[in-house]
Amino acid sequence: MNFKNSTNTSIENKHNKSVAITFIQCIDFMSNQLNRRSFNKQIIKGIGGLTIASSLPMACAMAKNEDRKLGVALVGLGYYSQGLLAPALQETKHCKLTAIVTGTKAKEEVWSKQYDIPKRNIYNYENFDDIADNKEVDIVYVVLPNSMHADFSIRAAKAGKHVICEKPMAVSVEECDSIISACKQANVKLSVGYRLQSEPYTQEVKRLIREETFGKPRYVSAEAAYVSGNNWEQWRFNKKLSGGGALMNMGVYAIQGAIYGVGENPIAVTAQEFSTMPQKYKDTDETITAQLEFPGGTVANIFTSHHAKGDRLYVSAEKGWFELDKAFSYGPLHGRTSEGKEIVFPHTSQQALQMDDFASHILNGTENKAPGKMGLRDMKIVEAIYQSIAKKKRVAINL
Ligand code: NAD
Repeated sequence: MNFKNSTNTSIENKHNKSVAITFIQCIDFMSNQLNRRSFNKQIIKGIGGLTIASSLPMACAMAKNEDRKLGVALVGLGYYSQGLLAPALQETKHCKLTAIVTGTKAKEEVWSKQYDIPKRNIYNYENFDDIADNKEVDIVYVVLPNSMHADFSIRAAKAGKHVICEKPMAVSVEECDSIISACKQANVKLSVGYRLQSEPYTQEVKRLIREETFGKPRYVSAEAAYVSGNNWEQWRFNKKLSGGGALMNMGVYAIQGAIYGVGENPIAVTAQEFSTMPQKYKDTDETITAQLEFPGGTVANIFTSHHAKGDRLYVSAEKGWFELDKAFSYGPLHGRTSEGKEIVFPHTSQQALQMDDFASHILNGTENKAPGKMGLRDMKIVEAIYQSIAKKKRVAINL
């Protein structure tokens, strides 16, 4: 944990660029694979025994592979690609922006100039499948409206490219299954755009739960919501394109927060839908609350909306509480505990961390922090929530 005033940061922030692999560089590399607390523990264990030594050959091999940068093609150049992903790709250590796929001719020249993308690496939605022949593209990142995720993720897999599919993974469990099957069949890696799975605050919540620092959790609240504005023509308000409203948008982050805040998968849900503007929110949900039940009896209340704000994860446990507030936005995030301590980590682009984690997974076999099965699990919960609202009853979730 990086509490304010903590000084032990130097070893974590170094990055090995040298070809010669030294003991310290290997330790340096390993530190990036572990959170601070577990890394420190490993070091302590290593000094008294063989933990570090036995892990070194693999760590060194991994460090060698990581010198290569994987080429990323962004599919869909809207808000998220333009504002967050392309800038993040200027910061990534293990991947770089090499290609774009767009349906808007005017964007071709702008992006080509801004990011030095050659003409041969610019595709549209029709000739996208030709990307199969492009050796400069290793990863296809699908950043289109939700209903288009499955189609383009499957086409990317068939083209032999590794896939990052934005969240929500698709608009149904069936579509998530199809994406997973296509990637398996093509023997390519698949990840969902869950940027928070790679950032340190979320890792810290997971550690506090795993190590039961405050005992077992008893109640969790996860609020992920924002006010969407008045552009009623946007695809997010069109169920055909979005698959649903707030729940399909920030709602999946609230579900994720509930799960890592409790440390288990839910077994049942009871959900409610509300609207302050029913004349506008006809097609998609405005505000949803849901109570997720967990095997140990813990309950998590989640809240999501397109017409109210929320950005908080609160965990009440046996011996105290902790919270992230902000918890789900792009950062800097922030947290605190019932012991009066602040949870603070240096801010890094969440998207850069996310894409580097996936590249490292491809190159070195490190953990896939947001695999397809995680997107599938969340879509099962989304469907159970919609079912609970429609039937006005508790719905069991079989994960
Ligand atoms: P956007 O509307 O800004 O961009 C969508 C892009 O898709 C545009 O380039 C648009 O031209 C293109 N497009 C192609 N066919 C379209 C159609 N029929 N209708 C509308 N647009 C079409 O959306 P965005 O905010 O960039 O979101 C794209 C995806 O990224 C969504 O799945 C969203 O959930 C996801 N997203 C994720 C995060 C995150 O935090 N991980 C944040 C924002 C968006």
